[in-house]
Amino acid sequence: MPVLLVTNDDGVHAAGLAALAGALEDLGEVHVLAPEREQSACGHALTLHRPLSVHRWGERRTSVNGTPSDCVNLGVLGFLPERPVLVVSGINHGSNLGDDVTYSGTVSAAMEGTLLGVPSIAISLVEGDELEAAARVARQVAMRVLVSGLPPMTLLNVNVPAGTPKGVRLTRLGHRVYSGKIVEQADPRGRAHYWIGAGPPAWEALDGTDMGAVHDGYASVTPLDLDLTHHRALAQMTDWEPALNAALRARPREPAKPASRAKPGKRRRR
Ligand code: MN
Repeated sequence: MPVLLVTNDDGVHAAGLAALAGALEDLGEVHVLAPEREQSACGHALTLHRPLSVHRWGERRTSVNGTPSDCVNLGVLGFLPERPVLVVSGINHGSNLGDDVTYSGTVSAAMEGTLLGVPSIAISLVEGDELEAAARVARQVAMRVLVSGLPPMTLLNVNVPAGTPKGVRLTRLGHRVYSGKIVEQADPRGRAHYWIGAGPPAWEALDGTDMGAVHDGYASVTPLDLDLTHHRALAQMTDWEPALNAALRARPREPAKPASRAKPGKRRRR
């Protein structure tokens, strides 16, 4: 039986994780390796400055005191009995649509799997806690990936609306309209504190997007490219290189400033 790695960012005890592991059960030897605590919105963080420890909850169910990407790193690079043939992350409680994928621990786990060369899927339930439909979608998409594979550097981001989806749509990422403001409040001692991400969400045109699909009651499947280089921009920026070089040559570096006036020892490295 091929090894499948299941992880998430809601933590090892999340219902979505158990539903996902159950849905994939007969496709391979499912190993759950998930953060011991909720790590939502942790992005692609890796724990590099302290060792990781694990706790075994069952024969193939283990928690890690780290991030989703830590779990995938461990799982792909030697913690499991074999290198997994598939990484599936979720089922996240809450959507991971459009630009939000850049914050998502769920999607980052799939990014980590992809970077390590393992086909990877992220799956999220947009609303509510009825996990059955999302589990069925996860299973079908996973089967398809096991049969067809994925292009290199490509992962699938799947979002399933509440209720029974009308079907599946292949989509592109939607884009947020950033119209929100920060919210400034005073704490009980009169000091200012700030809330970000508090405004009502708004999206550009929904046509063809993941946001549009779930809005219409469909599950969205979005292929994401981890090659972040903008190749078209690179080709259009050919004149930048000589211009920047000419400018750098023309202006000699200013002499170094005299030593800073900060008191010695007070300066903290950041
Ligand atoms: Mn989450």
